[in-house]
Amino acid sequence: KHQPGRTILASTISKTYDQEIKEKLNTLKKVKPNGPLLVGFLANNDPAARMYAQWTQKTSESLGIRYQLREMEDPDFLEESIIDANEDDEIDGIMIYFPVFGNAQDQYLQQVVKKEKDVEGLNHVYYQNLYHNVRFLDPPDNQLKSILPCTPLAIVKILEFLKIYNPLLPEGNRLFGKKCVVINRSEIVGRPLAALLANDGAIVYSVDINNIQKFTRGESLKFTKHHVEDLGDYSEDLLKKCCQDSDIIITGVPSENYKFPTEYLKDGSTCINFSSFKNFDDSVKEKASLYIPMTGKVTIAMLLRNMLRLVENSLKLKEK
Ligand code: NAD
Repeated sequence: KHQPGRTILASTISKTYDQEIKEKLNTLKKVKPNGPLLVGFLANNDPAARMYAQWTQKTSESLGIRYQLREMEDPDFLEESIIDANEDDEIDGIMIYFPVFGNAQDQYLQQVVKKEKDVEGLNHVYYQNLYHNVRFLDPPDNQLKSILPCTPLAIVKILEFLKIYNPLLPEGNRLFGKKCVVINRSEIVGRPLAALLANDGAIVYSVDINNIQKFTRGESLKFTKHHVEDLGDYSEDLLKKCCQDSDIIITGVPSENYKFPTEYLKDGSTCINFSSFKNFDDSVKEKASLYIPMTGKVTIAMLLRNMLRLVENSLKLKEK
């Protein structure tokens, strides 16, 4: 079959962060000889979560970061274990493999993780900064960089790798002129992702099963943070229109049967799938210029990058 573009694997992109992580780690080891310790809590039987945990362990250890998986039979004990880990000075980063209860209790559990150890960047403070386009934790000093949720951040880094972010533009406006569709508006990934991309200057069509919204910073980027506009109920027609108006299609539909209709793509689009299921079928390769079938390995790299940033921030705070 004719394939005019390229498929790029997450492992190719994540590798570009190995060096940065190793260098930071070496500097850190001068103050913390054993290096940082990341603890992952697994309290479900989800094979995707287990795989993610194994990859986190493998990647951490290959870079020289200590990783400990704590498995729990009974999720009712998880909250206490997180609180213990929050107070344990030996532990630098904490993450939970979701879903645990599969309902709103999961969001509560996430907020139990101390923000100083929240490597996934899911604490309310980090989300609020993201939505408000605030990039530091200590304005106006601006010494401590805020943390971004690692899956949305991974997509941003993928777009940088693909040169969709234009480094000739001022920082913060590097997606000016770009249009994307994000199919998923969960609080964990889709909505923060749409906001991040719009804050960086893109026009984003944010799609969920109910409706389609447009996230932008307004004409000529006149606003300092994104605004949201309702475009209407979800319909195939509206989705197709948004795709025909976009250069970048990002999917995160958590279902095995879902396939994005390749015929909606504009020729030469960039296609990125972050769902654990393959949301594009192989025909995408005949139409996309760049296709990224999975993103998990970049997410793990961002997790480790976030952890080193948290440790750096805490050392800077101690100096103050
Ligand atoms: P979720 O169930 O919370 O959200 C799914 C979103 O997709 C919702 O907004 C829903 O409305 C939308 N949706 C579902 N079907 C749709 C359809 N047919 N058309 C349009 N929109 C539709 O799930 P989640 O937590 O956001 O996770 C989504 C996927 O991403 C899962 O497969 C998960 O495993 C994966 N994930 C990957 C990473 C990573 O690092 N790659 C990280 C987190 C989650």
